[in-house]
Amino acid sequence: MADAAPAAGTAEAPLFERLCIIGPGLIGSSILRVARERGDIARHLVATARSEATLARVRELGLADTVEADPGRAVEGCDGVILCVPVGSYAGVMARIAPHLSPGCVLSDAGSTKGSVIRDLTPLLPKGVHLVPAHPMAGTEHSGPDAGFAELFKGRWCILTPPPGTDPAAVARVRALWERAGSMIEVLDATTHDKVVAIVSHLPHLIAFTIVGTADDLAQETREAVLRFAASGFRDFTRIAASDVDMWRDVFLNNREAVLEMLARFTEDAQAFGRAVRWGEAGFIEDRIKRGRKIRRSLIELKQA
Ligand code: NAP
Repeated sequence: MADAAPAAGTAEAPLFERLCIIGPGLIGSSILRVARERGDIARHLVATARSEATLARVRELGLADTVEADPGRAVEGCDGVILCVPVGSYAGVMARIAPHLSPGCVLSDAGSTKGSVIRDLTPLLPKGVHLVPAHPMAGTEHSGPDAGFAELFKGRWCILTPPPGTDPAAVARVRALWERAGSMIEVLDATTHDKVVAIVSHLPHLIAFTIVGTADDLAQETREAVLRFAASGFRDFTRIAASDVDMWRDVFLNNREAVLEMLARFTEDAQAFGRAVRWGEAGFIEDRIKRGRKIRRSLIELKQA
């Protein structure tokens, strides 16, 4: 069933009767929050997490109607399930939930890589369960159930990568969920998605993790000065570099080809820049800076800055 028609004189009917969020961290708890706030995403919200501490915190915050430690029991009777765990743990989580997924259920996710998600979930997908992978292009460097907020997805893109032949009604429901969360939707194939995010997200993170390490390797005296004067640009790298370890390890390990391809292209371009600096080629340097400014302006115009 697609986006349910609203009953006369009432708000729109919920898209899901029973929606389970697996991994109520930054992304998962933000989905729970916006679903709670709106009321038209799911009638009943279920959450399951790995640790006792997260389960207890989700209960304290009142983020879900049912908080269940066992992922298999959590998904029972659900018509919607969203994996919000690090992408490296998908195969293990899927092995636990697959026997409990109901026919007709829409299985989606929020993972930052999409080829690996289809690779890991498809072999265990029960007949009649619809897989509609998704990637909300929204986030912060914070994690855990306290880090989430209902407005996280507002005005941000969410990319759907349904494999060929996916039930259009299941895709429509996932699209409607993200639209109700405030997102703009794009549908891409998984390979294109993985290349795009390698350049817009994964490579910038790789550079940030590397540059703060390079600064940390400097001699004591220089390192102290770097930290003291960090406001001049370096600070933005340290914010990105403060991101979650498990999530980012899994992203790099699960988007290997695309990250390596983009890194190779970047390295060539950075070396060309370096050569221009060495040989005093002011025109080349100016051209690069002008290009950077132009790209920034177009991002501002697109309201994505
Ligand atoms: P997070 O705040 O660290 O939350 C991760 C959740 O997954 C927690 O509830 C955690 O449970 C659970 N978890 C971790 N490892 C697990 C495992 N091995 N088995 C089962 N559950 C496990 O992470 P997040 O930032 O919300 O990211 C969640 C997903 O969204 C990831 O796939 C990430 O790639 C994607 N994503 C993230 C961002 C971002 O900027 N952060 C943006 C878009 C998409 P416990 O707390 O109990 O350990």
